[in-house]
Amino acid sequence: MDILFFLLYSLCLLGLIIGLINPKAIIKWGNTAKRNRKKVVKLFVTGLILLYILQSSSLGSLDLAENYPEEPTPVDNSDGTDYLKVHFIDVGQADSILIVTASDSMLIDAGNNNDGDLIVNYLKSQGIDYLDYVIGTHPHEDHIGGLDDVIDSFEIGKIFMPKHKSTTKTFEDVLLSIQNKGLKVTSPKVGAKYNLGQAEWTILAPSQEYKETNNSSIVIKLVFGNNSFIFTADAEEKSEIEMLKTGNLNSDVLKVGHHGSITSTSYDFLKEVNPTYAVISVGEANRYGHPHKEVIERLTEQKVKILRTDELGTIIFISDGDELQYETINSLESISNQ
Ligand SMILES: [Zn+2]
Repeated sequence: MDILFFLLYSLCLLGLIIGLINPKAIIKWGNTAKRNRKKVVKLFVTGLILLYILQSSSLGSLDLAENYPEEPTPVDNSDGTDYLKVHFIDVGQADSILIVTASDSMLIDAGNNNDGDLIVNYLKSQGIDYLDYVIGTHPHEDHIGGLDDVIDSFEIGKIFMPKHKSTTKTFEDVLLSIQNKGLKVTSPKVGAKYNLGQAEWTILAPSQEYKETNNSSIVIKLVFGNNSFIFTADAEEKSEIEMLKTGNLNSDVLKVGHHGSITSTSYDFLKEVNPTYAVISVGEANRYGHPHKEVIERLTEQKVKILRTDELGTIIFISDGDELQYETINSLESISNQ
């Protein structure tokens, strides 16, 4: 809408300037178009008044920037003091992602109920004793299952969960741990930005309250210098369509939605994200048949490099704000037995 107004204003202004510098040109145009000078002036004045009215009305003054995230400010990492590590922890048919910078850390999801110890030990092995941010993307067990153990074991700055409620014991366990720790749940607000060291992350979804739990997933984009990630949790096509309206989805790494289910990674969304890497957090021979072959085909067609936790184990991306590399840990058994 803003661009349309800008263009119309520019057009009117250009017409007026030409009219001032060379009135004959305008009159000539008026004559060729079988219009007289009076008509041309009338047209300009009416146009300007109309634009002024529209701009002053609620329609014209809608501030879209307030609702949708802007391009985050590039990070100055020229002194090379900061880094970003993104760990896609192998928790089988579930999600758990640890993000670490030189100074800060955050956790997105904590696997199934029985992954609690594994995740707590993994975080300790990475020297974590405080998590600046924790996100429980949505109340399904394969995302918040081990979250109570994480909350019980670490000090936490801010915890985010969608407004979507659940009556499961898993969900109640998490709420109890939050309550015992004296924490307050922050509801996600689309467009809200947070710093993580010199990186910055923005909430992209959910933009509304969905009745489907998966679509209630908190989705974020993380930017560190030239490198960027989108973590989609289990958001499905409905939420993806909403995210497309925000623009600026382009990212190097896409955490593929819903473990590679056909319900997510719609063609338009994938095209907009245009990732180099797609990470699929998925359990070997899972009962859902994830990842679905259609999603693999879509990714292959777009020439995206697919990295799967069922094949590679834990996948760790390392960025210096410029170059992005990854490494893998085949088995976490040694860490979980510590
Ligand atoms: Zn899931």
